[in-house]
Amino acid sequence: MNTISASIVTPNGTVYEGNVHMISVRATGGDMGILPNHIPIVAPLKISAVKLKSEGIDEYVAVSGGFVEVRRGSVVTILTEAAERKEDIDVERAQLAKEKAQQRLAELNEKTAEYQEAQKELQRAENRLHVASL
Ligand code: ATP
Repeated sequence: MNTISASIVTPNGTVYEGNVHMISVRATGGDMGILPNHIPIVAPLKISAVKLKSEGIDEYVAVSGGFVEVRRGSVVTILTEAAERKEDIDVERAQLAKEKAQQRLAELNEKTAEYQEAQKELQRAENRLHVASL
């Protein structure tokens, strides 16, 4: 089999479904390039960009962490809390979210759970801005 059956799924529905030649993900343990017939694995993902490569086109999806699962038969599923295709990213909203998170980080005590939460918000916003610019 020369392609991978790829899907990116969130609690709000499927954001991506298609047959691709390669998927690049950023796992917590490092970057991974997944080709057809990859061994089965499950790996946690960073807040990052997923690149889906097929004939002549590269597509990008922003993911808010989650997991990548590779199953036998070249089936790859990414399960994540939130995901947006590059073309669906609202840049103005991400820019506002970034500024709001930066403001909260400046006001909050570093030891609080709210600070950690604001750091995640900042990462999500910066990731969306990055993916939109690809
Ligand atoms: P915001 O403060 O703008 O809501 P957030 O990081 O808190 O940002 P999430 O909780 O990660 O947002 O996502 C909530 C929903 O909104 C998800 O369905 C996500 O895909 C969508 N979403 C968030 N930001 C954007 C964006 N900039 N463009 C398009 N969809 C977005």
